[in-house]
Amino acid sequence: MRYLPFGSTGAIVSELGFGGIPIIRLTTEDAVRVLKRAYDRGITFFDTANSYEGSEEKFGSALSGVREKIFIATKSKKRDGKGVTEHIELSLKRMKTDYIDLFQFHQVVQEKDWQAIIAPGGALDAALEARQQGKVRFIGITSHGIPTALKAISTGEFVSIQFPFNFIETGAAESLLPLAQKTGLAFIAMKPFAGGAITDASLAFKFLRSHPYVLPIPGCDSVESVDQVSSFYESPNTVSEEDRRAMESIADTLGKEFCRRCEYCQPCPHGVSITLGMTYQLLASRMSPRVACGYVTKALETIPRCVECGACLPKCPYNLPIPDMLKKHYALFREHRKLYHNEQN
Ligand code: SF4
Ligand code: SF4
Repeated sequence: MRYLPFGSTGAIVSELGFGGIPIIRLTTEDAVRVLKRAYDRGITFFDTANSYEGSEEKFGSALSGVREKIFIATKSKKRDGKGVTEHIELSLKRMKTDYIDLFQFHQVVQEKDWQAIIAPGGALDAALEARQQGKVRFIGITSHGIPTALKAISTGEFVSIQFPFNFIETGAAESLLPLAQKTGLAFIAMKPFAGGAITDASLAFKFLRSHPYVLPIPGCDSVESVDQVSSFYESPNTVSEEDRRAMESIADTLGKEFCRRCEYCQPCPHGVSITLGMTYQLLASRMSPRVACGYVTKALETIPRCVECGACLPKCPYNLPIPDMLKKHYALFREHRKLYHNEQN
């Protein structure tokens, strides 16, 4: 494992990070084993979020003994100052630490969210105050939408951008990634397996390692998967023509029904929460169906409001069949509610 500068912060972190979503579906005992294995394999960058049920607590149980040797990133979806302050306090308590290395504004795509964050006395001011108090070392942002991400990073307020990057979702390579490099921002590649859509881990890492300035944060749910992923970093990276063809072929096939969560299709005039509806199937496989169908109940119950007006279709740059996919995912969601929460269809 190599250790590289985290943007221009002066911090040094492992070239491979750990993403805190899949441990949601593990018991605390198993999650602790997985996290400790990641640390033993040389991983020092750990990323979680306030909204990942139980994940921060598991970080606290596994990693508080090696706190000074690791770099912990977490995030909050709160957009107001009071909410951000409360979430920072909660994260500190859950992770048994008195400082967060990187606090990130989570999933900032819509303009109204961005405006709320930068409003005087708002979320950004609260994070800056926490930084002044020593509770937060650095501030970053996560997004799935290129325009908002570009706008945010051009303010100079953030040390990092976390954005989807894998061989299906390559949009960042043209604009965000070069800008991050030019301005000294760390680029954290979320969803290295496209949220579970890419099943060939070796291919996924061949692609990621061919972009040396990105820090991937795969989520692992077993000691074996930690071993597998970290072993990719033990030898030089080679990407053959055959690998490239395989990536293109997978991207072509999956791309036809793969939602990039960019939110360009929103808002729906009938109040349908399109993005969460479009990504439910992958969310259920990452979080476990039991957790996922509880986590997104409110959003998924907006899907029956879809009148198939088609207003969202031209707004999707990937020409996804939105109403059909929503129907399919809603049926799966209802199945999970029935199975795990005893609800009738
Ligand atoms: S097709 Fe459905 S989801 Fe799309 S805008 Fe119309 S009502 Fe909303
Ligand atoms: S449906 Fe299309 S526009 Fe909407 S979030 Fe997904 S990829 Fe983006």
